[in-house]
Amino acid sequence: MAPYRPRSRLLPPRGSALKRQISISLRLTIWFGSVFFSVWILFGVTMWANLRHTLTSERHQTLARRIERLQELLRKDASASAADRNQDYSDFAHATGNGLAAVFRPDGTLELPSPSAAASAFSWPKFQTGQSSSFINVHAGGQSHWVLAQPFSLGGRPLVLMAAAPDAGNQVVMQNFLRGLLALMPGLFLIASAAGYWVSRRALRPVDRIAAAARSISIRNISERIPVSGTNDELQRLAETCNAMLDRLESSFQQMKRFTADASHELRGPLTFTRTVAEIGLKDPAIDASSRAAFQDIVDEAAKAAIMLDQMLTLARSDAAPANLVREPVDLAPIVREVFRTTQPIAARQGLHLSLVSNAASAPILGDAPSLKRILWILLDNAIKYSTPNGTITLRLSVVEDEAIIRVEDDGIGIAPSDLPFIFHRFYRADPSRGLVEGNGLGLAIAQWIAETHNARLTAESQPGQGTVFRLAFPLSSIADGAPGTRSMLSYVTA
Ligand code: ADP
Repeated sequence: MAPYRPRSRLLPPRGSALKRQISISLRLTIWFGSVFFSVWILFGVTMWANLRHTLTSERHQTLARRIERLQELLRKDASASAADRNQDYSDFAHATGNGLAAVFRPDGTLELPSPSAAASAFSWPKFQTGQSSSFINVHAGGQSHWVLAQPFSLGGRPLVLMAAAPDAGNQVVMQNFLRGLLALMPGLFLIASAAGYWVSRRALRPVDRIAAAARSISIRNISERIPVSGTNDELQRLAETCNAMLDRLESSFQQMKRFTADASHELRGPLTFTRTVAEIGLKDPAIDASSRAAFQDIVDEAAKAAIMLDQMLTLARSDAAPANLVREPVDLAPIVREVFRTTQPIAARQGLHLSLVSNAASAPILGDAPSLKRILWILLDNAIKYSTPNGTITLRLSVVEDEAIIRVEDDGIGIAPSDLPFIFHRFYRADPSRGLVEGNGLGLAIAQWIAETHNARLTAESQPGQGTVFRLAFPLSSIADGAPGTRSMLSYVTA
């Protein structure tokens, strides 16, 4: 039996793969273009049919008038001599319809001689005297003609009168009309598509704005909301729905933050107690070697756990109040020198060569000195941890234009390109580090937060097996940056 797989609530939308690949604006463009185009075709066909009807009925009326006048002529000439009658008939036929007329007896023979060669060559349709008058389309001499056949009684004798007129003129008009319609089609299709695209872009612009606003909201500014238009339409509902979702996310996030902060805080007491008890146990000279080793393990692990709890608490507090650091004018140069002095012996103990290169006598920035020391310590600690034996680490400070730039360079194990985008994420550790060195993956998350609170950019470049460079760029402070209450920065401004 096939294993049961729960259906995901986020099922992909139904529809063909192609439909899913085409953007909404393109789909709207195609729809608009097609509808506009179909309306144009419908309009063209209607106009064509209307024109055809108008031209045909105009031709029919002409033939009807001609037959009427022929009837009057035949009645008038009823008592005239055959020669006069034939002459009148011939004159009439030539004057009104290029000689295309015929007067038939019920047996199909001609009552009057054909008035023209065209009439005698013409293929007149068969028509019974009992039939009512009708228009018949006949193809003769390579072109189409309309023929009106009408029964007529002359002195009690049944006859059939016929008059014909070519339809070619009308056909030319119809063809020109059709050609015009077809010639306009590509241009109209392009215009319709362009108009469709323009309309769809305009219609979707508010969606883009909502998407941009939603994109700008992250965990750092989760209390911000998408502006609601007040137009009482689908877009307003979309913005409201997104905001309601953000409300729920924010509330879960707050709960999570409270839980992390509370748990980190509450765990510190028992942990300190455990460590203290183990340390007291270690001081007892009577304990055996295995108990001593166990107590030592407890002390070591408790120390690591205490560091991790402290880091988690720092991050939980940073989430609760992302910009709660009080920044004041500080000089980065002595801070860098101090951290270098304290770190150098540690590096040396590991057999590493740590050096400081600085072109800046001072680097005035707005900052929080303890946090600045912490971020430098995190970067240097990593450089030491992930260096290979006899490795070289360089700490550089430079002032370039309006930035103070710190670089921590090492020639250690490096970071794979696939790991690099994630190293600032909480608890993320690149695979080689897990086996090689102790750590919990929180240091760089804290470093990133400290950088953000200082409006600094923290970036990393690395080549696996060759080394890593962390670059930290702080905006230099100037007198204009001095917020009310901050200390004067005059002494820090470089000449
Ligand atoms: P950790 O406690 O694991 O050092 P961090 O957040 O400080 O946590 O670093 C995250 C990960 O980034 C590390 O586990 C390691 O894989 C990688 N990393 C950080 N700095 C370096 C470095 N200088 N060289 C190589 N890898 C590093």
